[in-house]
Amino acid sequence: MRQYATLAGLIAVIALPSAATAQPRGPGQGNRGATIKAGEACPPGMTEVRPRNCQAPTLDPPSILDYRPRSTLVAPAHTIPKAKYPAIDFHGHPTSQLSSAEGLESLGQALDSLNVRVIVAANNVTGDALKRQVALVQGSPKMKDRVRILAGISFRDVGPGWGAKAVAQLEADVAAGAVGIGEIGKGLGLSTRKGDGSRLRIDDPELDPVWEAAARLKLPVFIHTADPQEFWQPIDYNNERWLELALFPGRRYPADQFPSFEELMTERDNLLRRHPNTTFVIAHMGWHANDLGRLAKMMEAMPNVYTEVGAVLYDIGRQPRAAHDFFVRFQDRILFGKDSFQPEEYPYYWRVFETRDDYFDYYRDYHAKWKLYGIDLPDSVLKKVYFANALRITGGLPQQGWPR
Ligand SMILES: [Zn+2]
Repeated sequence: MRQYATLAGLIAVIALPSAATAQPRGPGQGNRGATIKAGEACPPGMTEVRPRNCQAPTLDPPSILDYRPRSTLVAPAHTIPKAKYPAIDFHGHPTSQLSSAEGLESLGQALDSLNVRVIVAANNVTGDALKRQVALVQGSPKMKDRVRILAGISFRDVGPGWGAKAVAQLEADVAAGAVGIGEIGKGLGLSTRKGDGSRLRIDDPELDPVWEAAARLKLPVFIHTADPQEFWQPIDYNNERWLELALFPGRRYPADQFPSFEELMTERDNLLRRHPNTTFVIAHMGWHANDLGRLAKMMEAMPNVYTEVGAVLYDIGRQPRAAHDFFVRFQDRILFGKDSFQPEEYPYYWRVFETRDDYFDYYRDYHAKWKLYGIDLPDSVLKKVYFANALRITGGLPQQGWPR
């Protein structure tokens, strides 16, 4: 296998468009061109320099890893280290920070530097592990109102009798201090098996007692289903997540091993519809941040559904006008959340939400090779997204002392 050293090398793996007449390129030769018919793509290693005329560069092209053009754009630029209003991170994954007093102390310092007042730990913990974390938080005068914990649900051996046991455990976890359920991970739907070996569907009726208990106990259910849709597509050079899929082979979902993206979305939507009295927060904008029309339809049809913005900033920030309008329209149903706990990444969110800056860098190349734009949310919407929506649907969050 040749080394993937150059863009030309990368592209060479894709089949040539059949009608293109490519000329081999040699040093010092003039034959660097090809012509194509309207609607055809240039052959690998060439680009369309005039209509239907393709040409190869005279220098070896860099790989997508090494091409890092310096932008010459001079435009207003605002760095926003701290959120404009105190925020609730509804999609928190503090880990070591919740296992010792020192960890908790360092968490407090990080949150202060970002103006995140409360982090909701969505680590799917239950039983003794949950009790230990609640005790650690409650034992800290400084941090007792800065962290809240969601209860996990174990989907092991789902079958007859599972529902009653799961509900009993959930009630115990709530008595111990849990304020909601989550994060229900993508394993539900993608890979979790039932006691009988079959795939556990997201809308399996055996799970209903848990969703009904959540409604009765007024607990939001924070659920992550599937992954970006490109993870199901061929890993060719038209896949906008090529780099991520090449870096992390575990994120590929071949059709012979996994249900399709649409199958999972259908099961998720069945679940959401079947429990209209249960409040669901669908993580990562339901993986529809790249199709806000689809997400809008869902939100319209299902008033019990809220959404959360973690790890999809690249989609929000590449469509600033549409995203602005979506956030204004659904301002009562969107929650701030970050996912992976990396303090230096939060300010990118503040900048996208609060500014009208143009064309600035995102923090993770493999999510997105493109730049972001600010969506310039009004203050009234920022407050709802940053804290008010989370407070309204989660009674167990500290309710006092928020801005009006
Ligand atoms: Zn998560």
